[in-house]
Order: sequence, then structure tokens, then C-alpha cells
Amino acid sequence: MTGKKEIPIDPVWYPFTQMQEFTDHSPLSVVAAQGCWLEDEQGKRYLDGVSSLWANVHGHRHPVIDKAIREQMERVSHSTMLGLSHPGGIELARQLVQRAPEGLSRIFYSDSGATSVEISLKMAYQYWQLLGETQRYKFLKLSEAYHGDTIGAISLGGMDLFHERFDRLLFQSIKVPTPDLYRHPFAENDEGHVVEHYFALSEDLIKKHAEHACGFIVEPLIQGAAGMIVHPPGYLKHLRDLTSKYNILLIADEVAVGFGRTGKMFASEWENVSPDLLCLGKGITGGYMPLAATMATEQIFSAFLGDFEELKTFFHGHTYTGNPLACAAALASLQVFEEERTLDDSVFGPKANKYSEGMKRLEQLEHVGSVRYRGLMGGVEVVKDKTTKEPYPFEERIGYQIILEARKQGVILRPLGDVIVLMPPLAVSLEELDILFAATEKAIRKITEG
Ligand SMILES: *Cc1c(COP(=O)(O)O)cnc(C)c1O
Repeated sequence: MTGKKEIPIDPVWYPFTQMQEFTDHSPLSVVAAQGCWLEDEQGKRYLDGVSSLWANVHGHRHPVIDKAIREQMERVSHSTMLGLSHPGGIELARQLVQRAPEGLSRIFYSDSGATSVEISLKMAYQYWQLLGETQRYKFLKLSEAYHGDTIGAISLGGMDLFHERFDRLLFQSIKVPTPDLYRHPFAENDEGHVVEHYFALSEDLIKKHAEHACGFIVEPLIQGAAGMIVHPPGYLKHLRDLTSKYNILLIADEVAVGFGRTGKMFASEWENVSPDLLCLGKGITGGYMPLAATMATEQIFSAFLGDFEELKTFFHGHTYTGNPLACAAALASLQVFEEERTLDDSVFGPKANKYSEGMKRLEQLEHVGSVRYRGLMGGVEVVKDKTTKEPYPFEERIGYQIILEARKQGVILRPLGDVIVLMPPLAVSLEELDILFAATEKAIRKITEG
């Protein structure tokens, strides 16, 4: 080496971060964690109020998951699924098929939510090509949808803030208006009318584009990154009925809502819906390792079967596809779901009730316009004027100020604009829920009521 390199104190370029704010210091650094608590370099502890970006399920350093990863490490950390296999990958696939909605019998592994979505869209496209329906190339999506940050995933997304910038790089898809019961174009808050409007619009657009459509992608029940927009009951079922009626695939992106978030293993179960393709990520390993999966029906899978030279193969793969350490963590997480009866009414119920009570209390605050949640997943929208729903000016960064205030109270949150996300690990205790809501209330009051 010649000369001495000038190395920035912290060369990390952080995700979704205006780096100018971190030219002379790093974000809070997590050095350890235990249960639902994170610890910084000074030994200060913080409640993990957003499950380390919606991923953690059973708490940090869970002995069963830690042990499974350690034991797997003693066998093999990584080989490959391109041409080879490993027992943990197969066992996990069998267990996921066992638990998934009816009809999903095949699993394609990858390593992030975005890749699970990319895979689903390529599968859907190639599926119709293989059936000879080569006129199909379009996808329908909801406005405000979020499916990840790779180019294909953004093409299926609807959030202008994240997506507009890359417009010319994206393929076109059909935007179906999100059934938003808080912000909608009607003067009256006549919920029945609003619901009817969105249900009808969905049918019009599906009908109109069915001939050229590969599929409709949806985040079941809750559109997370959009600001925790909770769909009206029956909407997912409605989409299932319409996609079946007009013969297009239904792709359920359960990257955020899957693995118990809403109180059932998969959110689609609430409406007895079996999608044709199911995208999984975030909580699949209990939030310990990067792993994702795209599940498909036997009908889709079998369309790809043929003699080698027919070139029906699904040409897609990643180096770390089905990584053994990640599969071991995922298997252990499923084991913990059973052993701790995480989703049993008697365990989940009291937590969900307390969470709901906490939300209802926050709803009373002067500057809380709306609270939206299912199970242990939700958000609190802070507004300047509760009557008119007028938001705060964007530059005021009210949501960000609130989470900084909550941090002083020992709770880590991350906002989506002015929506304060409250999404603790499913392992959260009733006492920890009290801490979460008390800190959030105090922070919202301090910032919005002064
Ligand atoms: C987070 C998320 C993704 C993207 O997952 P990554 O692992 O961040 O790539 C996709 N879809 C939904 C619904 C998500 O919430």
C-alpha cells in the first residue's frame, strides 16, 4: 500500500437516511440485546418498539433460536442450493407448506422481502408465458403499495415518495386505489359508501385489464409502509373472488403481516384466502437472519415442468438461497411458536387487548387523527388539525421528532412520515406494552401539545 488512506470515521451509507445528518456522528449503535430490549454502547437499554424493523418475533437472544444457529454452524454455515440441497432447507419447506394457506405446496427461497417479491412477479409472468398466454405482461397493485426497493419490487409499489424518482426505470403497472377509510375523496364519513366505492373500483380495473394481466399483488389486511392502512373487512376475500373470476393470479405479500403479526400465522387466514403466490420475509427467521420465501401452488409449479431442452426452467437464483443458518433459525422460530403457544388466544389475546386499549387511549389525544391496527401491528397518525385531517408541514418532521422524544424515554420507534409505528415483538409482555404506550403518549404530547 502506498500512502495512508483517508477513511471516514463511519463510512457506512445508511438506508433511507439523509446522510448529511450523520457526517460527524453515527446513528445510535446497538451492541447487545435481550428479549424485547436493545442496549447501546453506554449500556442504556431501550424497548424495541418496532421489532428491529418489523422482523423480531420471539425477542432477541432467544435460547432456542440462538442454540439452533450455533448447532447449525457446527455442521455447515453455507453451501448452495444451486445443484445441492440440505436437510434444514427441506424440513423448513415442509413445515411452511404444513402451515401455509391451502394449496401452497412449493417454496422458492431467497434472502429478502424484495427478492421474494421479484421472484413472485417473474414466476407469475413466466407461468402465463408457459401456458401460451403471451399477451399477459401487466400487474395490478394498490396505490400506496410497498413491496421492497429493487427495481421490480418498486415497479409493483405505489408510493410516490419512494418510487417517483426512478420512474423511467420501472415497468408500468395498474394502480388500483387503496381502500383507505381515513383519507378518501369523499366529504362524508359514510363508511359503507366508501367501502362500496373501493370494492367497485377494484372490480372495474381488474375486469378492464384482465386480458393482459399476470396478477394482482396485495399486502393482505394492512398496507404497512404506506402508514399502516388497514383494509375494510372482506377486501382481501373480494380480491380473491375477483382474481379467480377474471382468471388472474393473486399474489399475497405477507412479508410484513406474516408470522403471527395480526394474530394468525398468516394474515390471509383471517379471510380464508389462499393466494396463488405468497411472499414471506421479515419474521420468517424470528428476525435473526436474512431469509425469504416465495410459495406457489402446485398448478403454477407444474407449468414449469418439462424436458430439459424445453427451457421451462425457472431461471432465477441467489448465492445465499436457502442459507442453512437462516433455515435453522426459521425452524427454531416455528418451534418456539408451538412451545410458547405464541398465537394461542390465551397468550396473544391479552396482549392484543392491551395493545388495542393503548391505541384507543392515544386516539383521544388532541393531535392524533387516526389509529389503525390489527393484532400487534399498527400506527398512530399525528395531524395538525384533527377535524380537517390537515397534516403537519412535511419539513416539520413531526413523526421524527416524536420518535426522538420517545427515545429519551427509553423506547426505540421508527415513524413512517407522521405515522408512529407501534410494532413490538410478539414476545412483548403486558408490562412492556405499558412502557411502550406510556412513552409514546408522553412523546406525542410533548411534541404536539408543547
Ligand atoms: C419490508 C417489506 C418488503 C421488503 O422486504 P426487505 O426484506 O426489506 O427487502 C416487502 N414487502 C412488504 C410488505 C414489506 O413490509
